[in-house]
Amino acid sequence: MRHYISSIKEATKIKAQLLAEGIVVSESIKNVPNYKKKIVHLYKHETKDFQSHFTLPQEIILFRHPNEISRSIVVEVRGNLQSPWRLQYASGKIILQNNNKNSPEYVVDLPPDDKFDTIVIKPGITVKNITSKIGSNVLGLVISNYCSYFGYNKQCKYCEILPSYQEYRNFPTAKKELNLVKLASEKALGQDKTIKYIIATSGNLPTKNSLDTYDESVRMYIKLFKSLLPLKKKFKLKFHAALMPPLTLDLFKKLHEAGVDSICCNLEVWDPKLFEYICPGKHEYGQRKMLEALEYATTIFDQGCVLSNVIYGIQSLDKNTLGNKEKVFNPEKEYKINIKGLKSLLDIGVIPFYTIYHYGGYNQIGPIKLNAQAMHDFYLDYGKYVLKSHIVPESKDIILFDLFSLPNQLNNEGYFINKFPKESICNYY
Ligand code: SF4
Repeated sequence: MRHYISSIKEATKIKAQLLAEGIVVSESIKNVPNYKKKIVHLYKHETKDFQSHFTLPQEIILFRHPNEISRSIVVEVRGNLQSPWRLQYASGKIILQNNNKNSPEYVVDLPPDDKFDTIVIKPGITVKNITSKIGSNVLGLVISNYCSYFGYNKQCKYCEILPSYQEYRNFPTAKKELNLVKLASEKALGQDKTIKYIIATSGNLPTKNSLDTYDESVRMYIKLFKSLLPLKKKFKLKFHAALMPPLTLDLFKKLHEAGVDSICCNLEVWDPKLFEYICPGKHEYGQRKMLEALEYATTIFDQGCVLSNVIYGIQSLDKNTLGNKEKVFNPEKEYKINIKGLKSLLDIGVIPFYTIYHYGGYNQIGPIKLNAQAMHDFYLDYGKYVLKSHIVPESKDIILFDLFSLPNQLNNEGYFINKFPKESICNYY
């Protein structure tokens, strides 16, 4: 039987499964007349053994809200040949189905192609080589796929930013010139009027003295966002920056003055010993110092606008077994560590934001089989804690951007379901 996923809650459950288990995409999808094609700007989300003879779709729209598009649910495609989930195109419909569970055939949709590859910036370079549209309304900018930590083997052990660039490079150099980034953003915004947010991310810039990278990298962000300020006004945008904190904390002020509305300085790992092991470069800055910087940032940016990313799936790892091929994921331990950690951030006015661990074949941690149900339940409890903290202003329905903005995480969904429980279970179809 075919039917539409009819509520936000149902879509969130399926999204958790697709992010944890991945999906097999049938070649029939390439016959869909117009869909946004996958491009690797930051990370490859497919499993190591995944091969495809055609370009995968970037995302799937699981649930389309009939009245408010911003309350729809979108999920990133993570190709995995072992997944029970299948996506295919049949009789003019895009069908999602779980092979294992006598699942119904869900009729879903794919976001349309952004056509950024048709806008030439300079010979051989199009807008698509520089920017990408994330979800429904976010323009993603990756300034540098090189991070200084790789220069002296102190990169984070889960990080694939440089090796994925080396394999899939779609820009000649790992670092992009800021004037080209600005030009590409301008062109993208001119073409796509749905964009409401710009998010910039970058590896740390290489500097002579390794500690100089923090201030230098933030200065680079300031320069970039300053140059984008006229676009912010013209298109009524919000700016978000993901970055390591500066050592000179006053630079946060300059970043804010450059138009940045919210920031994410990523702690990634809670346990101090595991942090030191998994993030040796960040350890040089210091976990405690990062926390102090985050707390300081809450005095500069608006309430609810200072976030810190943590990776769901690696908190319960034992550093002594990290080299083993089969890593045991312990959902109960993971839950406890993450809940304890999130409370400590909320206490200082910072919102934790969980990304979901993935392995594309290029990091030092390797594959981890996540438990979709445990992950889903964690995100719902996460949303409850964030809601109770009242750090997100009452006027906002969502933690960051819109519900429809971020295909790769469930933070917004967890928050929304707790804030609007009735709306989340309301059947629209
Ligand atoms: S700080 Fe860590 S995660 Fe970020 S780019 Fe550098 S190595 Fe990768």
